[in-house]
Amino acid sequence: MTNEEIWKAVLGEMELMLSKANFTTWFRNTSIISKDRNAVVVSVPNGFIKEWLENKFHKKILDSIRTLTPEIREIQYIVGHPKIDLKQNIDKVLLEKDLEEKIGTAVDVDVDRTTNLNKKYSFDSYVVGSSNELAFAASQAITKNIGKLYNPLFIYGGVGLGKTHLLQAIGNRILYENRGRVLYVPAEKLTADLIESIRNRTIEELKNVYSKLDLLIIDDIQFIAGKEKTQDIVFSIFNELHGKNKQVVLSSDRPPKAIPALEERLRSRFEGGMIADIGTPDLETRLAILKMKSEDKECGLDANTLSYIATNIQKNVRELEGALNRVIAFSQIYNRIPDLKEVKNILNTYLSSPYRKTSPQVILKNVADFYSISLTDLLKRSRKKEVVRPRQIAMFLLREETKLSFPEIGQKLGGRDHSTVIHAFEKIKKEESADEPLKQELVLIKERIYNSFEK
Ligand code: ADP
Ligand code: MG
Repeated sequence: MTNEEIWKAVLGEMELMLSKANFTTWFRNTSIISKDRNAVVVSVPNGFIKEWLENKFHKKILDSIRTLTPEIREIQYIVGHPKIDLKQNIDKVLLEKDLEEKIGTAVDVDVDRTTNLNKKYSFDSYVVGSSNELAFAASQAITKNIGKLYNPLFIYGGVGLGKTHLLQAIGNRILYENRGRVLYVPAEKLTADLIESIRNRTIEELKNVYSKLDLLIIDDIQFIAGKEKTQDIVFSIFNELHGKNKQVVLSSDRPPKAIPALEERLRSRFEGGMIADIGTPDLETRLAILKMKSEDKECGLDANTLSYIATNIQKNVRELEGALNRVIAFSQIYNRIPDLKEVKNILNTYLSSPYRKTSPQVILKNVADFYSISLTDLLKRSRKKEVVRPRQIAMFLLREETKLSFPEIGQKLGGRDHSTVIHAFEKIKKEESADEPLKQELVLIKERIYNSFEK
């Protein structure tokens, strides 16, 4: 049995035991990266999940693996990137570097234990451009006037655009200047902590800790959507801090009004301060980011190379950094700067790496999920407004993300004519370039598509 087959079987069992949301939270982007006679190494996306798997699921995972390969005695969980293609040299170097970096974080070398802040995220290392200047200015402003200017500050934007960086920079500034108690917490972790403390009957203690803060930063707050108990407690913590003029900073992948299953009273609280969005960086900003990061790394890449990367990698800053790291990895392996043709090649593999593959089914399912409509409604011939738009978006994504022709897409969506599909495609394409919220929506849907299980 291959590692992949074994892990698939384990995931199958876990999926049966857990709710869908829970399963996704703890097992998304995990995989077995190596196995010897008695032990397997499981790669997980972050230290938080690592802890959770070790503490809560270890025995079940081990039992499940041992039904297939009884000789396994030990499982080691490692924070790293499972989806990188190991066959490639560059990927290997990246994986090792990444593992080193991440293992470092997992044992808390860089992250302060009481505040969860990582010093590497500062205002100084944040490049400002038109896509993020409002969010940046608001962030700086509140650090000068903590609790009194905008409360809460709510920053939203798509994946990899620099929300966490800004939030952490705010926390670091306050901590550095010794201006009060700070806590940064991802909403996922907050939720897990709450569940844990409810179970252990220590919820009052936990609330007490939160109520003493001068600055509470909750990252990715959209995660509490649909979680009633968590929302209850967040509401009461929020009110307590807000009432005392203590600063709250929140981030989300979308504005408060677009977070589904969020209680109205929380939504209106979230909208009660300042809302600032971060968009996708323009070419100039991308170039400035690359310049700064490449100078930090002293990699000696020339202006042409950087400009090629900035021009071609447009989606977000995380991807931009990924591309840069790839090029740097090449120059380390071959001990020279790649020429433009080579850079093209390196980025080509980057853009068509295996994890970017998807299927029409996955796209359709994710579009339906995203807009909370059923797959049947999406596919059949209904003309209801709430289905028409998602269907156009599905057509657009099928065209952009798969090799299907317009007539084939029409076939998949209830036997529609190819001219309907072309019309939808062109409509969304045109809107995408002008309409920032739509652009973000598409980014979010794609993010789900490429992270989903049904591949
Ligand atoms: P998000 O939280 O929005 O998903 P992150 O804050 O994690 O994004 O950003 C992803 C990566 O890109 C991080 O390494 C971050 O430091 C970097 N980054 C994002 N925006 C900027 C920026 N404006 N200047 C410098 N680095 C940035
Ligand atoms: Mg983030």
